[in-house]
Amino acid sequence: MKNTILLLFVFTLCSGAFFSCQDSDQTNASPVSDETMARLVGLGFDVKNFVPMKFDDGYLVEGDIFVTDADLAVMKPAGRVPDVEQYRTTNLVSASTVRTITMYAQQGTCNSCYSAGMIAGLDLAIARYNAENLNIRFQRLTTSVGANIVMTRLRKGEEAQGILGSAGFPTASGNPYNQIKMSGVLESKYGLSTAGIATIIAHEMGHCVGMRHTDYYNRAISCGGSISNEGDGGVGAILVPGTPSTATAAAKSWMLACTDGGDRPFNNDDKTALNYLY
Ligand SMILES: [Zn+2]
Repeated sequence: MKNTILLLFVFTLCSGAFFSCQDSDQTNASPVSDETMARLVGLGFDVKNFVPMKFDDGYLVEGDIFVTDADLAVMKPAGRVPDVEQYRTTNLVSASTVRTITMYAQQGTCNSCYSAGMIAGLDLAIARYNAENLNIRFQRLTTSVGANIVMTRLRKGEEAQGILGSAGFPTASGNPYNQIKMSGVLESKYGLSTAGIATIIAHEMGHCVGMRHTDYYNRAISCGGSISNEGDGGVGAILVPGTPSTATAAAKSWMLACTDGGDRPFNNDDKTALNYLY
């Protein structure tokens, strides 16, 4: 991905189709300036169904896209984009032979630590990828030293707002994105099962290795609300051959933009996409 453009997709519980939307929390968040709002509207972001809010050192728009002022300065409105099949970013992880991607998440009782249940979800997500016998393999380390992807907790306020996780896309040099920010309350606050937690972590891992949302061209498929297209996003949205002509919520792809909190193991089309790329 271009260094100048950093789009982080996070998976929110703000899904009208399945969960009640966290509108009250969003409206309590810091508003963005009129100038920024005008820029977001000009770029085609949906600011009505998803009120933009300040997030980290940038803004969270459409509920799950993170952009900074630097991003907004160079982004252009999306042109016409394809509306079929599954999608990857321009950059992928270099893996002409089997490559192991190491991961680390801190387990324990500290504020920034994950519960055993969250770690079990991470382990299941890793097992799901490894069961596909891809050229990328994942391995969890018990120390952060040497980890390719570190999973760290969101801030308390972000977790309280219903944000579930965020990640980025592979680098131009062919390395996976190196950080997943993940809520630590998927089990304790939302009662998600290990499989449900694994689904969300696997989704963010998917972004790290170059997967776009299956329904990126119309997030309403999984999120509800009005038609909303994430566009090229500056990172590319390239068709993956052999995947179906349209996304449906019923197919339960692990890369749908919004979650229902349930289990979404790789469906056949997900497996086709992963095996084609890796
Ligand atoms: Zn996502």
